[in-house]
Amino acid sequence: MSRRTLLVLGDQLNRATGALADVGPEDVGVRMVLSRAKLAQRPWHRAKLHLVISAMRRFADGLREEGFEVDWRVEDTWADGLDGAVDPVVMAPSSWDLRQRLDDLGVEQVPNDAFVVGEDGFAEWARGRNSLGLEWFYRQVRTETGWLMDEGEPTGGQWNHDKDNRQRPPADGVSPPPPWRPTEDALDEEVRREVRGFEQSLGLELYGSMDERIFATSRAEALAALEDFLDHRLAGFGPLEDAVVDDEPFMWHSLLSVPLNYGLLHPHEVCEAVDARWRDGRRDLPVASAEGFLRQVAGWREYVWGIYWHRMPGWREENHLGHDGTVPQAFWDGETDMACISSTVGGLLERGWNHHIPRLMLLGNYALMAGVDPQALTEWFHSMYVDAFDWVMVPNVIGMSQWADGGVMATKPYASTARYVNRMTTHCEGCAFDHRTRTEDDSCPFNSLYWDFLSRHRTTLSANHRMAPILGNLDRFSRGERDAIRERARRFRTDG
Ligand SMILES: Cc1cc2nc3c(=O)[nH]c(=O)nc-3n(C[C@H](O)[C@H](O)[C@H](O)COP(=O)(O)OP(=O)(O)OC[C@H]3O[C@@H](n4cnc5c(N)ncnc54)[C@H](O)[C@@H]3O)c2cc1C
Ligand code: SF4
Repeated sequence: MSRRTLLVLGDQLNRATGALADVGPEDVGVRMVLSRAKLAQRPWHRAKLHLVISAMRRFADGLREEGFEVDWRVEDTWADGLDGAVDPVVMAPSSWDLRQRLDDLGVEQVPNDAFVVGEDGFAEWARGRNSLGLEWFYRQVRTETGWLMDEGEPTGGQWNHDKDNRQRPPADGVSPPPPWRPTEDALDEEVRREVRGFEQSLGLELYGSMDERIFATSRAEALAALEDFLDHRLAGFGPLEDAVVDDEPFMWHSLLSVPLNYGLLHPHEVCEAVDARWRDGRRDLPVASAEGFLRQVAGWREYVWGIYWHRMPGWREENHLGHDGTVPQAFWDGETDMACISSTVGGLLERGWNHHIPRLMLLGNYALMAGVDPQALTEWFHSMYVDAFDWVMVPNVIGMSQWADGGVMATKPYASTARYVNRMTTHCEGCAFDHRTRTEDDSCPFNSLYWDFLSRHRTTLSANHRMAPILGNLDRFSRGERDAIRERARRFRTDG
């Protein structure tokens, strides 16, 4: 009898998860499918296609070396990719839509165990709670796992080191150790040729560069990248994790979102490794850095996965503020006099990646106040970021950055004037705009947009107790000032 067909998706590249965990070459035939319809579905950053296809092909090669028969197919659709499959089985996909589609195609789905807590664990935690804030979820994860815990208490005596970890860029500059870099091989070039071929044959709309690969695309590379981060960068992760410095795009960030989201690393092993480093070398590893990083992986990442499944379907379509503007052209090409946006998009086009503050407080903040349609913005993030997948985009863009769910994830909108940008980044120095003024010809767009945003949404936002004192400031402006702010903001809004 033919062996059963085991489907492996592009973000399930792990031998120890899902349906692959307990089988050998004699049990199953592996099928991996690249769908042309998926490639043509939206614009893409070239680096994303390069990374996903390379990682899938390296994983397929690894399975073949183990003796598995791997059928790698490029097909028009997913349904074509299943042609001839025998009783197909897959680990439940990470996106709501693909779960439905594979269900319709009769593919059995085994539980997704690529996370520490999982969907059911989150649902249990959320049951009966009024507020689904991250902090309590994260504390429970630490309590249950024992990560950075000493006899039931948080290591160092406090759960949260955000206060120590929000320092502004130092005046005398920074010199973070360079991040791990892969050694490219023939497959990288081959896949680049393949991407160029798809661009031509399918008429794809592609952005950015794939000239230099900076992320891990195999298990061996992912482990090397993790080890290098733990050795050289984890200790410095905390204090400047929110700071943005020109010419230092990576700061002390780990660049592990790609290997984590593609399945090459399991979050459990990453958190275990951080905990072990802390226990082995307390003197060299500041607790604020260890905790700050653990919070990202054991806290935010697990929380985002759990809340995605808790709120879907429907969450992706929410638009609490009724925004319908287009994504600014500068987000696609970086062509703008706004130094912060041009530098962020320039880095994005080069690498398909920015750290979390450019995503949240520069691009997200600007889009929110400019009135961009949250669904269009989610699509844009999905296209342009190498680590973007539906489960992580929807909570971060719809929930956190655009407040499109009315405050399920974020207690108030992440909207700010240039004051925040000037404090936490080095961009304002030398920008064509003046970060101190609101309504002059060269006033920073963030300033008029901020007050205009508050004014437009005053009624909705006044129900939020954290916004009430801020909204009161609107009354300090004269009618003339209010008109001037509205006029100036109109030039930057994209919702007409
Ligand atoms: C608007 C917006 C969009 C985002 N889109 C994505 C996305 O598409 N894919 C993605 O993986 N992350 C996304 N993030 C979260 C975060 O910006 C990235 O995970 C991080 O910048 C990746 O770089 P790093 O690996 O160096 O992260 P580090 O700063 O080193 O953090 C370590 C790890 O923590 C995890 N993490 C931290 N914050 C989050 C978060 N909010 N959600 C999920 N995981 C988190 C990531 O796996 C990351 O690799 C987004 C954040 C915002 C505000
Ligand atoms: S002045 Fe305004 S536009 Fe220029 S860098 Fe600062 S925040 Fe950005």
